[in-house]
Amino acid sequence: MPKKFQSLSGMHDVFGYQFDYFERVREVVLKNAKIYGFHGFEMPIAENKEVFTRGVGKHTDIVEKEMYSFKTKGGDDISLRPEGTAPIMRAYIEHGLYTRPQPVKFFYFAPFFRYERPQAGRYRQFWQFGFESIGKGGPVVDAQIIVLVYNILKELGVCDVVVEINNMGDDVCRGEFKKVLKKYLKKNSSFLCEDCKKRKDKNPLRVLDCKKCVKIKEEAPQIVDYLCDSCEEDFKSVLEFLEELKIPYDLNPFLVRGLDYYMGTVYEFFARRKDEESPSFALGGGGRYDGLAELLGDEVRPATGVAMGVERVVELMRENKVILESEKPQVFIAQLGELAKKKALVLFEELKKSGISVSESFGQDSLKSQISRADKMGAFLTIIIGKEEAVEDRMILRDMDSGEQEKIKTSGAVKEIKERIKKSKKK
Ligand code: ATP
Ligand code: MG
Repeated sequence: MPKKFQSLSGMHDVFGYQFDYFERVREVVLKNAKIYGFHGFEMPIAENKEVFTRGVGKHTDIVEKEMYSFKTKGGDDISLRPEGTAPIMRAYIEHGLYTRPQPVKFFYFAPFFRYERPQAGRYRQFWQFGFESIGKGGPVVDAQIIVLVYNILKELGVCDVVVEINNMGDDVCRGEFKKVLKKYLKKNSSFLCEDCKKRKDKNPLRVLDCKKCVKIKEEAPQIVDYLCDSCEEDFKSVLEFLEELKIPYDLNPFLVRGLDYYMGTVYEFFARRKDEESPSFALGGGGRYDGLAELLGDEVRPATGVAMGVERVVELMRENKVILESEKPQVFIAQLGELAKKKALVLFEELKKSGISVSESFGQDSLKSQISRADKMGAFLTIIIGKEEAVEDRMILRDMDSGEQEKIKTSGAVKEIKERIKKSKKK
């Protein structure tokens, strides 16, 4: 027997409802990107490894554990992209985009690669959409990116989203905070997990992000108490803008994000699940990264952005039983018998031609299950052609809301159906 193959561990096929939801997310992202003035960006799947070791940071989970890196035949060290911000900043510098009117605003919708332990909601190839605004910044830009993502989630039917927000300080105040934090971690190192014991000196902030080290946070120093005047001012403004925009947020003094390039305002979008038992999870996050351009060999450039996990957004759409508009046919054709099938097939083509969205399940023979399918799909009208109707050259129109049925003649049926749809839209 020849070997049967499976997709690689952590890499999944996208099809069926997931594909339809993916398309919907892409469509809403594209539409909103246009409204808010973000231009599309396609980055290469691989980059020089250093774009990430320098950009994302040597002591981050991504670079330490999760990158797909290898040497090419020509001897170059390259990595599959684990995220999109560092490549876009590489491009900004490479193409001298600082000479254009600032800020330069890009969005992407693309797959990324991280060699993680596969588990629910965590893949080795996953998709993100993201927005980046580079070259000129300020709290208003952060707030606008947050409201943009919030609007996208709302439009996709993902409600009950909360923004957790913090300010990580800048080069001035973060240095002081790191010193205090290091001291605290040293004193309390018995509470740290094995990973954090190792990283507490090189990347003490990362300990605050650790899901295992909960106890240590209870009395840990908080960055908000160490912010310099300009960071504090900046943070206050972002919060005021969010209040003005009525975006629900929670202050989270321990939110630090896993990537080195963040400074100043950082945030994550959390979904509160309907089912109390299921934990809330992060859909994505972002923040300011003014220092990234310098890490990649340029100078400090004000910049801010966000990245959202598409699989997680799609999972919530499914949980919230979001019905896709395009899935909802105006008309469903149910049939029974050979002659009815023939007539139904022709009617399907006629309705399509006249611009009516129509659906069917011609492979099924039970009228009951066809009508229940029409109901599930959210059809407005179901056309029933049974054995008797087929012979009589008639059909039954069933209003799916009221359940009322009426028999009409096949000739002139398309016109009649069109009129009914038009009337229902006016209601
Ligand atoms: P975590 O702490 O959960 O590992 P992260 O800090 O690595 O998250 P980001 O790099 O900020 O995550 O990515 C933004 C979003 O992208 C995440 O909130 C998540 O929705 C999605 N994401 C990240 N890694 C994966 C993955 N391996 N599989 C699926 N989605 C992912
Ligand atoms: Mg991660």
